[in-house]
Amino acid sequence: MELPQAPQGDGKFAGWFCDGKEAEDDQILNDDKEFYAVFRQDIKDARISDIPASCYNGTEIKPTFTVKYQDELLTENADYTVSWKNNVNIGTATAVITGIGKFFGTKEISYVIEAHRWNGPMKTVKEPTALVYGRAERKCTVCGKTESKQLAKLSPKMKVNVSSIVLKTGQSTTKVKLPGLQKGTELRHGHPAIIKS
Ligand SMILES: [Zn+2]
Repeated sequence: MELPQAPQGDGKFAGWFCDGKEAEDDQILNDDKEFYAVFRQDIKDARISDIPASCYNGTEIKPTFTVKYQDELLTENADYTVSWKNNVNIGTATAVITGIGKFFGTKEISYVIEAHRWNGPMKTVKEPTALVYGRAERKCTVCGKTESKQLAKLSPKMKVNVSSIVLKTGQSTTKVKLPGLQKGTELRHGHPAIIKS
């Protein structure tokens, strides 16, 4: 008695199966069970969703993507496995998809790792004062990462021309605005004066 010939079917003939397991040759010859042919599909025929560019961050970049065969959404580690190549540095990285289970073969998809694309130079989002540090920020238009830097406190030394405001002894004025100073800060020119607001 001879083994059955590879049957015709859709895909690549993977063998005769019985109860979900691949049958042994002598099982086919001796057992009075129902055997069925299993065909596997080439993962090359699957469609993989586009992978948008990712930003370099010094670690392995493993973006998510979907793998579909006809209308079926495939499951990682059940229908395919993924390995990665060149996925740390700036340049072109590759995901290698290997069919398992009902699938066989491999398919590669490449994607780009690039430097952050900042939305412009650092912009001040918080003005420094003589007492408090300021902050400047910029944002990556690709991954949304925000980078910030501290802005130095203002130097408390400044020149103020108040010669046009004539005050008599004991009078006060609100005409001098000194941003960055706080109530109680001393302003010295000849005779010390106190900023009241
Ligand atoms: Zn980025």
